[in-house]
Amino acid sequence: MYIGKQAVVIGAGIGGLAAARSLVGRFEKIVVLERDILPEAVEPRAGIPQGRHPHVILPGGMESLSQLWEGFTETLRAAGAKESDFGSQTYYHFPGQQALPFRKLGIRFFKCTRPLIENTVRNLVKKEQDVIILDGHRVTEIVPTQDGNAVRAVCCETRDGKEEIYEAELVIDASNRGELTLEFLRSTGRSTPEETVIGVNLNYATAVLEFEERDTPEFHAMLAMPNAPESSRMGLILAREDNYMFAALGGRSGDAPPIDWPDYLDFARSLVTDSLYKILATGKPRGKIVQYGFTENRRRHFERCANWPRGLVPLGDTICRFNPVYGQGMTAAVKEAVMLRDLLKSRQHDAQPLTDLFEALMAEANPMLDNIWALSAIPDLAYPDARGERPANLQEALEFNVAVHRAAFLDADVHTLLFQVIALLKPGAALQDEAVAERIKRLAAEFQATHNGAER
Ligand SMILES: Cc1cc2nc3c(=O)[nH]c(=O)nc-3n(C[C@H](O)[C@H](O)[C@H](O)COP(=O)(O)OP(=O)(O)OC[C@H]3O[C@@H](n4cnc5c(N)ncnc54)[C@H](O)[C@@H]3O)c2cc1C
Repeated sequence: MYIGKQAVVIGAGIGGLAAARSLVGRFEKIVVLERDILPEAVEPRAGIPQGRHPHVILPGGMESLSQLWEGFTETLRAAGAKESDFGSQTYYHFPGQQALPFRKLGIRFFKCTRPLIENTVRNLVKKEQDVIILDGHRVTEIVPTQDGNAVRAVCCETRDGKEEIYEAELVIDASNRGELTLEFLRSTGRSTPEETVIGVNLNYATAVLEFEERDTPEFHAMLAMPNAPESSRMGLILAREDNYMFAALGGRSGDAPPIDWPDYLDFARSLVTDSLYKILATGKPRGKIVQYGFTENRRRHFERCANWPRGLVPLGDTICRFNPVYGQGMTAAVKEAVMLRDLLKSRQHDAQPLTDLFEALMAEANPMLDNIWALSAIPDLAYPDARGERPANLQEALEFNVAVHRAAFLDADVHTLLFQVIALLKPGAALQDEAVAERIKRLAAEFQATHNGAER
């Protein structure tokens, strides 16, 4: 049974597409409005500048996408994504210890470019009869009802300068920046939401590498985490669906990775391990090295706004954007879409299914966002110049993180649990369980006694 005639989704990024799917069967028509002209080919586009950089869809995100589309993993694999176990084919270097040993952890991990993920999802959405994606449509305003208590329509401008208006009982703002929602709140006399921010001033530089056949790495991913707080330098090599690999280097504040190849290599040499440098040195960059500046993790507490308008649902980065180093943003957006789908299903026979819908969504999404926020906040706040409120137990939490990394080196169960947490399959609290935490501390002490810790 439909609960409404028409819903509009703003943005055909990952959150918008997943949300469109979650509305199928609940609205007679779902219109997705996207400002970009969407390419047929698998290639980056202007509206997703981050799409030129490595983008992993974490196993937790794959799980949610599979809840939206049965067989999604097979579809992404068939599209070319490379698959391995999260614990093998993946070198994880934490400071002061060797890379975690390859182990089969039973967690499937897919690697491909962001454009491939998006194209795959978009092609699935295009098959939905009730969904229409209109590209080249830039939304300019979310229009309120006369009394300001609800959404009524969405205005947009087409590429040829025409203005169009789409009536809507539900509007999903998945535009990433969320300015349209903020403007709606202001124009209807509401206050904009409080924000929690962690300023990280991260600079990214990404190269696409090609290798001679004999030098082509056999692994799928290599990650060198920074030695905080002494250094913020980190690096990543990641497989793609084609014959190339991504390399990404990162540093904070003034310590930006260079975009000139010899200097880029030098920067890579200064990471916690020289393994990454050695691989990069056998490759050759294709085209230019591209940069990205990421200033802050930002969480908008929309749920604290009084008198929330009926039918307005911000989603994805509009609500919360995370430090991209941990690869969590797409997963958070897709998890929210699954929650929205389930909520709409549970309300389909209600007299007023859209009343307090967003409040109900946030009540479900907030524990998930709290978890992700905490996972990235602790390492992000390790740097004295990171802006943001520090938890009272920050030092203890940082020391516990180091203990987990040491314990994961020695113990397959801790390794599995840590990677389930990183993959967003289990909450970080699973590592805090009393018996687990005791075991981690014991193993970390054993590591300390038996390893000198150093690695290059
Ligand atoms: C450098 C970098 C690396 C990242 N790496 C990862 C990673 O490895 N893994 C991961 O999960 N996440 C990663 N992220 C985060 C991820 O990109 C975002 O969390 C995710 O894309 C958010 O989805 P979204 O739908 O909210 O927004 P987006 O996917 O950004 O989509 C927003 C869409 O809205 C459109 N739009 C904007 N304004 C309008 C308008 N007025 N009218 C119509 N359309 C509009 C845009 O063109 C775009 O298509 C990374 C981010 C960055 C910056």
